[in-house]
Amino acid sequence: MLTTIATHQFFLTGIIFMLVLGPAVGNYACSVVYRLPLGKTPFERHPFCGHCNADLQPRDLFPILSWLSTRGKCRYCQGPIPGIYTVIELACLVIFVANFLHFGISENFLLYSAMEVFAVILAAIQWQQGWLSSSIYGYAITCAALARTLHEATIYGWLKGFFLMFVLASIVARIVAALQKKPSAPFDTPWIWWSALIAASVPLHVTCLPLLLLPALAGRRSAPLYAALAIVAPLLAF
Ligand SMILES: [Zn+2]
Repeated sequence: MLTTIATHQFFLTGIIFMLVLGPAVGNYACSVVYRLPLGKTPFERHPFCGHCNADLQPRDLFPILSWLSTRGKCRYCQGPIPGIYTVIELACLVIFVANFLHFGISENFLLYSAMEVFAVILAAIQWQQGWLSSSIYGYAITCAALARTLHEATIYGWLKGFFLMFVLASIVARIVAALQKKPSAPFDTPWIWWSALIAASVPLHVTCLPLLLLPALAGRRSAPLYAALAIVAPLLAF
């Protein structure tokens, strides 16, 4: 009886903690999404409004709630705050709660949550700017490789998944490009990198193979879809 109550309490405290931690991490992710393409570091300056440059006060910094309370406008200049930042905070909330429910507090939780937050940042920058950030990709693939190595006690699993998917996706891209009579450039094709990241993170070659059917949706608008797949894949695989 006592252990049941203790487990219950641990579980509830964990959920409440994740409901706070997820959006807080998401809030930080937003400043990376905003500042990285401008060549600024997230540590450079206190959060500010991109329109009027006003320094934001604590009441402006509550993830999700601040945005809702001002109906998506800056409190100081009424400039619109893009909804994408609230979507990023919500995505991080989902990541932390889902991974806590699935993995509990564990190394898997830490590594997959980190990988997925980087995937969300990657997708948001691609959505806004049209390119993949190589540094953020590097962080994401490092977390994916660590998580998978932890599971399999070998580095061959993620290496095989990554390279196999990269080669297969490049072949598909080449065929698609030939059909459209366009030159193919696998290293500049974001969906190939996305597919390789997902194939590196989970040992599900059969489940990963349908990724090869997705280049039909290859534009920058497909970035959120790939981020969602990166979040769902570890939950399905382990
Ligand atoms: Zn403003």
